[in-house]
Amino acid sequence: MAELQGRVLKNYNGYYYVQVDGHTEPFTCKVKGKMKQNRFSLATGDMVTFEANEKGEGMIKKVLARKNFLLRPTMANLDLFVATFACAAPDFSFLLADKLLALAELAKIPAILVLNKVDTAPAGLVEQVRSVYEPIGYEVFTVSAKTGSGVDALRARLRGRICAFGGPSGVGKSSTINAIDSSVELRTGAVSEKIGRGKHTTRFAQLLPFDEGYIADTPGFGNLLLEGLEPQQALASFREFAVYEDGCRFCPCTHTHEPVCGVKEAVAAGQIAASRYESYLAMLEEIRLIKEKEGRK
Ligand code: GDP
Ligand code: ZN
Repeated sequence: MAELQGRVLKNYNGYYYVQVDGHTEPFTCKVKGKMKQNRFSLATGDMVTFEANEKGEGMIKKVLARKNFLLRPTMANLDLFVATFACAAPDFSFLLADKLLALAELAKIPAILVLNKVDTAPAGLVEQVRSVYEPIGYEVFTVSAKTGSGVDALRARLRGRICAFGGPSGVGKSSTINAIDSSVELRTGAVSEKIGRGKHTTRFAQLLPFDEGYIADTPGFGNLLLEGLEPQQALASFREFAVYEDGCRFCPCTHTHEPVCGVKEAVAAGQIAASRYESYLAMLEEIRLIKEKEGRK
């Protein structure tokens, strides 16, 4: 039996589908009983070593160290998180955008913002979104999966990378992926059919080959995005706050009730976007409520 190394593309029905360079079809692999006992867990995107028999069935032996790890959706080793929103229907949400960017930031995964349905954008929205995110280092891509506008630039940005799309349902993630590469979406359809479930009920993230990289078709998320997060993590996820903390009298400062606070001063001066600070406060409150609920259990 030869030992091979590959990437986990998906997990279905107890089998892990592992792609090895130079092979067209993924290997279907199982996990050794001993590894299961050690509370061993595998995520989509993990690199593993396994032993395969002639039939192409494998037994996973080892998971290689992860470059990064995202809990929702559960994925390892992403090169790029594509936070996707619509300009309208559903309306752009600064809070939701900040939550998704926060989770990518905490997982140390580079993230970009995609604004789809630019054909329906209300006047000023695109400029407003750019003015909040571009100065703090987030690229904003405006696209229309419908007209094809902006699709080439986005495709070029994703090429050769392992990318996960995340965002509320209805913003056009499937349409955008399809516009980028129609064969990617076709494969999604084929897989969903085989496993007898609609693509919108996919429970596991799966990686779909695309231009020497992969695009992840991720399951939708509920309203548990911030579960398990600490207030300090919410703070750490706002990358532009740190430089103003020199102006805080207290250390640590939560930038909420404390007098003399560099972050609050920067918000008042327009150096930090008001929407970002409001998102931070809303996330703190949500984390507080989650903890309160857990405490009562
Ligand atoms: P998902 O749930 O994020 O995967 O969203 P879908 O790709 O299923 O799209 C949701 C709806 O938005 C569908 O009715 C699409 O036809 C529509 N849609 C997607 N992209 C665009 C776009 O660029 N412009 C407009 N006007 N509608 C779009
Ligand atoms: Zn402060």
